[in-house]
Amino acid sequence: MSDHGQGETKPLILVVDDDAAIRDLVREALEHFQFAVAEARNGAEGVKTFARLKPELVVMDVRMPEMDGFQACAAMRQVPGGANTPILILTGLDDTESIKTAYEAGATDFASKPINLFILGHRLRYMLRAKRTLDELRESEARLASAQRIARLGNWERDLRSGRMRWSGETYRIFGVDPKTFTPDLASYLERVHPQDREIVARATGEAVRREGPYSFDARVLMPDGTVRFVHEQAEAIFDDDGTPLRLAGTTQDITERKQIEDQIRLLAYYDGLTRLPNRVLFMERLTQALTTAQRQGGTLAMLFLDLDRFKRINDTLGHTVGDRLLQAVSERLKKCLRSTDTIARGDPLASTDTVARLGGDEFIVTITDIARGEDAAKIACRVLEALNEPFKLEEHEVFVSGSIGISLFPHDGKDADTLLKNADSAMYHAKDAGRGTYQFYNKSMNEAALQRLAMENSLRRALERQEFLLHFQPQIDVVTGRIIGAEALVRWRHPELGMVSPGDFIPLAEETGLIMPIGEWVLRSACAQGKAWRDEGFGEMIVAVNLSGRQFRQQPLVHTVDEIVKSTGFDPRCLELEITESILVQSVDDTVSALKRLKDMGLRVSVDDFGTGYSSLTYLKRFPIDTLKIDQSFTRDIATDPGDAAITAAIIAMADGLKMAVIAEGVETEQQRDCLRQRGCRLMQGYLFSRPVPADQFRLLLQKQAGGEPPGGEATSARRVAG
Ligand code: C2E
Ligand code: MG
Ligand code: MG
Repeated sequence: MSDHGQGETKPLILVVDDDAAIRDLVREALEHFQFAVAEARNGAEGVKTFARLKPELVVMDVRMPEMDGFQACAAMRQVPGGANTPILILTGLDDTESIKTAYEAGATDFASKPINLFILGHRLRYMLRAKRTLDELRESEARLASAQRIARLGNWERDLRSGRMRWSGETYRIFGVDPKTFTPDLASYLERVHPQDREIVARATGEAVRREGPYSFDARVLMPDGTVRFVHEQAEAIFDDDGTPLRLAGTTQDITERKQIEDQIRLLAYYDGLTRLPNRVLFMERLTQALTTAQRQGGTLAMLFLDLDRFKRINDTLGHTVGDRLLQAVSERLKKCLRSTDTIARGDPLASTDTVARLGGDEFIVTITDIARGEDAAKIACRVLEALNEPFKLEEHEVFVSGSIGISLFPHDGKDADTLLKNADSAMYHAKDAGRGTYQFYNKSMNEAALQRLAMENSLRRALERQEFLLHFQPQIDVVTGRIIGAEALVRWRHPELGMVSPGDFIPLAEETGLIMPIGEWVLRSACAQGKAWRDEGFGEMIVAVNLSGRQFRQQPLVHTVDEIVKSTGFDPRCLELEITESILVQSVDDTVSALKRLKDMGLRVSVDDFGTGYSSLTYLKRFPIDTLKIDQSFTRDIATDPGDAAITAAIIAMADGLKMAVIAEGVETEQQRDCLRQRGCRLMQGYLFSRPVPADQFRLLLQKQAGGEPPGGEATSARRVAG
């Protein structure tokens, strides 16, 4: 029996034999070897004693009544905790059949009778030692596994040649796959790595294999249920004696929780808890970044400092909960305002660096990058103020608020974050002084300019419906025959207060605001209708030229619009010439070529306006289906006095000739200029020398005068037929 003495506990050995004499002998011998001994008389009793005493080792005879040694051995293996206890079976000498059966029943070893008791003692000691080593190993494996489970840390190996992997239990758990159905190898592992992080894995493996030391990285893995978790992977390559990399040995740790905590910390440190907007710290960080970029690229930036008017009163009368809700609602409206403004016009809302932030209390700040001019900031300020004007419904209250906005502009009002913020703040106080619910620029002159531009934009918006546009026509003359061969339509705006506004002053504004589309369409329709009217009056085949802006040209439905207008006005498309600028030609050449070809297929003519002022490379020119080059006024002006201008003009004329294009010189004001041009082979001209742009009825007088007694029409367009 087991010894419960003070000293070390003696290992308990269970001896199962039906022969009492043998049991005695064995007991004596084993006690001599410092073992404690328990006995059982047959297999059945042996199994019971085994279950009760849990001996460290069993010595068991084969042949016994009731239950033999084989059955008892198999039964002991089923006893909880009995799977690993060493069992030594005593067999007859050379009884190989029994030896085989014993092993099959789960025996650890055998000894043949008659027993050498001395050797048996030694043998059992070694069996016990081996068993204890194994136990320790199992225990430490179990400890490792549970440590790995607690740390969510799995280990693995990957054969570099076959790609096959060996994963620990925890590695399977981290990847959320079942070891029974999942075969880990490089391909199936990579499949589970987030596609955007596969590159990281490949790079790290490469480095390890090239002996650049162990690697570690963080990556995302995809769970079978579609969720994403974060892992930290560490590994190193193992090489053979020749230095050939054999395999990678590494660990994978699930760090999802840590990541989430980090995110949480970030959120707390950089965002305002109430509104979830960036706080002052993040705002200053982003602003500094945006300013560096703006400085480098010569960009602009506007800062809007918003303070709610009389917010304190709401807090005091309705309580802080309502006050908090109001701040949240305001932040939502601010975000919406920014989204619906320029980010959309600029195409990619994600690329925008525009920010709304809460500085604290009822102070918010909005930054807008790349504004074309200060007045655009005023437009956004207006939108913000309008958005605040809508009453807020908070719990059962309907709350009315207004805000005051101060605007500072980079680089104009400051080059660094602090100065811009300070100046926007001081402008905000001016807005409060000016009666609240308004905005003020830090720079006073901007207030005036912004108002003017906004007013201009508003009246331009209404100009079409109020029919304030009209067309003037300037004749194009063939100086050889002296006849009018064409008319350039030039738009005019009769502003109710400002009088005639020149297109140079409102076309750029129309382009920026997109109003150029409806205005341009009106011009085209009116010009075609006028051309048709003159034709019907019998003035012959005269060309009507219409200017197109870049934005109009790039808008897709252009070809359809032109087609529809030509059809509905009944104007002959062969007499319609579209004037485009060189800048259109340089942008996306292939698109331009195909758009021009489609216009040409409709029978239209195309001319390049202000030729010589842009940057179009001359070699390009032959790729475009162009009928006419219009030499810019600046060359005409000095042609008689500046040899350089004369040379350029001569070159343009010669080149146009070679490319079979017609040439019109613009801005011809003197006879000297006319003669100079004519000497160089230019016979088509336009300018004050012949006529200023005039209203349609005055233009008719010119046509009538030219017709004189002779019948109108005839060879009117002959000179323009150069391009065929
Ligand atoms: P442009 O197409 O080069 O038009 C010629 C400009 O030169 C016209 O100015 C015309 O009045 C002026 N001009 C004509 N002869 C002379 C001359 O002998 N001496 C001088 N100094 N100037 C002369 P305008 O009408 O003020 O138009 C300016 C520009 O506005 C036009 O330049 C054109 O680019 C644009 N524009 C005019 N109408 C339209 C239109 O309907 N649509 C578009 N997109 N642009 C237009
Ligand atoms: Mg023109
Ligand atoms: Mg021009």
